[in-house]
Amino acid sequence: MNDYLRIIGAKEHNLKNINLEIPKNKLIVITGISGSGKSSLAFDTIYAEGQRRYVESLSTYARQFLGVMDKPDVEKIEGLSPSISIDQKTASHNPRSTVGTITEIYDYLRVLFARIGHPHCSRCGTEITRLSVDEIVIKILKEIENELTNDPIKLIKFILLSPVVREKKGEFKDLFENLLKKGFQKVRVDGYFKKISNEINLLKNNRHSIDVVIDELDLNLKDYRAKKEKIKKKLSEISELSLTLSQGLVTLYINEKKEIIFSEKYSCPLCNLSIPELEPRMFSFNSPLGACQRCKGLGVVYKVNPDLVLNKNLSINEGAILPLNKIFYQNTWYTRLLKKALEEEGVDMNRPVKDLPSEMIKIILYGTNKVYRVTGFNRQGERTAIFEKFDGIIAEIERRFLNQDNAIDFDKYIKEELCPLCQGNRLSEISLAITIDKKNIAQITAKTITFLLDYYKNHFFEKISHFERTIAEPIIREILYRLEFLENVGLGYLTLNREAKTLAGGELQRIRLASQIGTGLTGVIYVLDEPSIGLHSRDVDALINTLKRLRDLGNTVIVVEHDRSTILAADYLVELGPLAGEQGGKIVYSGTVEGLKKAQTITSKYIFEKNKIPLYRKPLVKKYGELIIRGASEHNLKKITVRFPLGNLIGVSGVSGSGKSTLIVDTLYPALKYYLQGYYQDKIGQLERLEGYQYINRVYLVDQSPIGRTPRSNPATYVGFFDEIRALFAETIEAKIKGFNKGRFSFNLKGGRCEKCQGSGLLKIEMQFLSDVYVTCDVCQGRRYNQETLSVKFKDKRIDEVLKMTVKEAKGFFVNHYQVLKGLSELDDIGLGYLKLGQPATTLSGGEAQRIKLAAELIKGTNDHTIYILDEPTTGLHLYDIEKLIKVFYRLIGKGNTVIVIEHNEEVLKNCQYLIDLGPEGGDKGGEVVYQGPTEGICKEKKSYTGKYLRKYF
Ligand code: ADP
Ligand code: ADP
Ligand code: ZN
Ligand code: ZN
Repeated sequence: MNDYLRIIGAKEHNLKNINLEIPKNKLIVITGISGSGKSSLAFDTIYAEGQRRYVESLSTYARQFLGVMDKPDVEKIEGLSPSISIDQKTASHNPRSTVGTITEIYDYLRVLFARIGHPHCSRCGTEITRLSVDEIVIKILKEIENELTNDPIKLIKFILLSPVVREKKGEFKDLFENLLKKGFQKVRVDGYFKKISNEINLLKNNRHSIDVVIDELDLNLKDYRAKKEKIKKKLSEISELSLTLSQGLVTLYINEKKEIIFSEKYSCPLCNLSIPELEPRMFSFNSPLGACQRCKGLGVVYKVNPDLVLNKNLSINEGAILPLNKIFYQNTWYTRLLKKALEEEGVDMNRPVKDLPSEMIKIILYGTNKVYRVTGFNRQGERTAIFEKFDGIIAEIERRFLNQDNAIDFDKYIKEELCPLCQGNRLSEISLAITIDKKNIAQITAKTITFLLDYYKNHFFEKISHFERTIAEPIIREILYRLEFLENVGLGYLTLNREAKTLAGGELQRIRLASQIGTGLTGVIYVLDEPSIGLHSRDVDALINTLKRLRDLGNTVIVVEHDRSTILAADYLVELGPLAGEQGGKIVYSGTVEGLKKAQTITSKYIFEKNKIPLYRKPLVKKYGELIIRGASEHNLKKITVRFPLGNLIGVSGVSGSGKSTLIVDTLYPALKYYLQGYYQDKIGQLERLEGYQYINRVYLVDQSPIGRTPRSNPATYVGFFDEIRALFAETIEAKIKGFNKGRFSFNLKGGRCEKCQGSGLLKIEMQFLSDVYVTCDVCQGRRYNQETLSVKFKDKRIDEVLKMTVKEAKGFFVNHYQVLKGLSELDDIGLGYLKLGQPATTLSGGEAQRIKLAAELIKGTNDHTIYILDEPTTGLHLYDIEKLIKVFYRLIGKGNTVIVIEHNEEVLKNCQYLIDLGPEGGDKGGEVVYQGPTEGICKEKKSYTGKYLRKYF
């Protein structure tokens, strides 16, 4: 057994050839300030090598799809086991994945419903049962016995019928003839008993129902008791006969009082609607057997918004059909059909659309359903004609949108609508009509995890039969196991049908974590990235217990983390540093938490010296007015009124799921945008009124989205000083002699850049079903420019060398150039001194992107009454960096702006001037204002969890 993981000579990114020995089957925390190299060690070295070895072990066939994985820059790793990473970046974009599917709870529910579900007819709602002949006989006997015991003296007539025709058109002459031949005498036609020998004349075009009378029994209780065995035997024969005649049905008719139909198959005895054998696939919206036919299991249908597709000021020939502009002027079969149809229908293609009669516009949008002759050339180059229906541009756009390849082109013309057939439940009518305890599977998945945990644990077994219980028990055990973990990691407020794409990164990560425990794997190395993100202090303990449980199953759990409680819970701690980037990448401590106390590292100072981040808090100011949001009721918000005193640092706190993002990101932000610019293109959360927006000029959501989508964007271009740098290069004598202007030094323009990679230094390789991979450009070796451009030097450095400098290095290099220096200093002050000027946007973390945006704001230096909104800005930040961030907030506020932060971090909260605490719990039990007012006041609020945790600082 290898009890240690040994890493020798790790040099990835900024790592300084480090050696490290980590005990296995322990909870390991890797910490250090941002940019010190934690991810480079945990993800880019340990996890990457584990992955790479795994891929190497696959067949060559499988490998061709996965491509070659770069070997991390490390000499040797010993004791490596298979590794699984649970990070926050890989958001799921599959519209079909939900909380239920990721956690596998849905898979178990499907089995449960297939095994003990009760099907109902989706037309009339009758429960459909399936019985064996013996069961049918027992049921009939029971009915007869009941009837006789109620009236023990009387002779009662029982008729056994075989329903052979149900609501079908015809005269049925042959049927009657056949029945006679087989020896049957009587039938019941449309409710009336008749002898078959009498002429039965039925109207051919009416619908009829016909039952054959198989036998009649006149019984009283005494007779019945005496002849019970005989009757039973007879009933058995009768039923058998009836079932073959009617394909599985037999009816017991009792003295004109009632009748009961028994079915041997899953089919509705009344509507004759039959359903297939129940199986788990019927509950899968990914399977054609289960998916709603209309929306194919998506729950929504995509509709073109007809108001957006035409530019009414243009004529068709000038390009009025906006979504088809790309192809309109090409000569394709479709464009020829379109033009031919419009021409034949007399649509004037040279008149602005707004001047066309409305029938003509209708033809353009919805077509004519007529067929037109279109000519062209076939593959062999011969002239041919085809006949094609024109159904309008809307239908065409919908078709083109559904074709994944050009979906983005049409995205903006499309709106999602709830599927009219399944109402968003995603499943077919048949599947939705199958219930357990009167609930179908969609009603179950619409419930929260907390509800389901209680339901399956405490109430479910009372609601089902003993027989069903034995089948359900092992399935329910698996479901409960998973529900408990989700509840424990603070996600009880989520419903199982919640789509993965609407979850925050932290939520998704905790769900994956919970599902990993469900799999029960052992001997694995798990690598996690800040799992405490999005968690209130109250829930972090539960998270730590989950991590320990994963460890106790026999796994090594490596967590990159800044959170104080998680660090204190580590079995073994590794701290990287001492600083970031070039000045980091070394191991400053490794060992137990106890040992860290004595080590003089940055982390030990912040962890063990209480109140290490001092109070920067300023008193609450009131002179800038107040923004008030009234009657906010989106998602779980309970019609709340919230006040935001402007010109302050305002913290929004509350346990996860309490409604913070709903209030700030989904309601306040879009509403402000709407009032300030007069329109807003996206959804605005429900609210009654917004007051005080006249005090504000601008609102800026400083989120963690990338500062650019391509490797060509980087900190220098985003903050803006790259322009100045290019100007400096253009002013050199060398550049002047060669006639190079500023544009020559841009990698976004043709001329100076390397054309192979178009200035990105990287080549994008599309990986079929995996995410795209970038490799260094082989022409410029990642330098991004062509040879000529690279021959120009400013102060001994080529432009690509400048782009490779860190912010800190560049500060020295440009010390005499104020315009460049200003931007560099802001980046350094905000804790990003370690970034390279040209580091591609695609390699920056969300937290880094967020801080670059803040730096860009500070450089603008405007005093324009802006509201800055930030959602968990401490993500990825060590306490050391958090302190810097708080200072930046106060600089923004010093200029008359307002900063609203959604946060769990106690250091940030204690430094706010005003707090809005939502809760008290998550989901339905949240959405209320627990406290709003000056920060100090929250400690007196008994109901507030936040108040309880902040008390120690006051
Ligand atoms: P941490 O996880 O401690 O915040 P990282 O391991 O992400 O730090 O980064 C360590 C250093 O490596 C930083 O200077 C960072 O800018 C650099 N770095 C990270 N990813 C890349 C990359 N893909 N290419 C180049 N440099 C990188
Ligand atoms: P917080 O930001 O405090 O963690 P949220 O505002 O994200 O809380 O969530 C509040 C409630 O609204 C939760 O019950 C959550 O499940 C629900 N919710 C949030 N976003 C959506 C959404 N897109 N669709 C449905 N429910 C949502
Ligand atoms: Zn549907
Ligand atoms: Zn290149």
